[in-house]
Amino acid sequence: MRLRNISGSREIIADSKYVIQDAENQKGKIRTYFEKDQPIQIEIGMGKGRFIMQMAEEHPEINFIGIEKYSSVLLRAIQKMEQNELPNLRFIRMDAEDITEVFEKGEVDKIFINFSDPWPKDRHAKRRLPSKEFLKRYDEILKKDGVIEFKTDNRDLFDFAVEQLEPAGWKAEVITYDLHHDPVLCEGNIMTEYEEKFSSIGNPICKYVIYR
Ligand code: SAM
Repeated sequence: MRLRNISGSREIIADSKYVIQDAENQKGKIRTYFEKDQPIQIEIGMGKGRFIMQMAEEHPEINFIGIEKYSSVLLRAIQKMEQNELPNLRFIRMDAEDITEVFEKGEVDKIFINFSDPWPKDRHAKRRLPSKEFLKRYDEILKKDGVIEFKTDNRDLFDFAVEQLEPAGWKAEVITYDLHHDPVLCEGNIMTEYEEKFSSIGNPICKYVIYR
């Protein structure tokens, strides 16, 4: 989701109280950005933030952090927060490649990855957010019994993600190739912007929940 470069978005982000600034130098202090000290769950590549905002609304007992690489996209989430301020949600603008610079070992309770960019060329496989290279980074920051939830409508990307699990030391607790028609897994499902768009044209949604 690359929106047109919106002029001034970097300045708005730099001034926003909803954004954890200079996050790579805040390791160990991330918890202090919330009113309450409670478990942290993060979404990587949150886009305009619909999913994580709804999660934060429904779960005031959890602190959420939405991570997004592009300023022009993050700006949309900030604008929504200005309309509906949530004390248990903060944002970070960064490339998730550097995620181990932000969170302490085992600090994160749960990681969500929704409709990540497929990077279809083989030579770009390392950039895919469910790749074994990224799983290694998540392994560092996720607590011992923490899980990762991943959703996508892209079957090739999902098959790749499932293949990455064993060599990286992860196991699947749940795998579905049609989330919206699974009466158990679908219950309480919060749709992301992309999920809404692709399921509305009939694409089945794949999802896994993994642990190690
Ligand atoms: N999760 C949202 C959804 O399901 O509607 C957005 C999906 S969009 C296809 C993927 C988002 O991930 C984009 O906003 C993109 O900028 C962001 N993204 C991709 N790679 C990233 C990375 N390495 N670090 C942080 N964000 C990333």
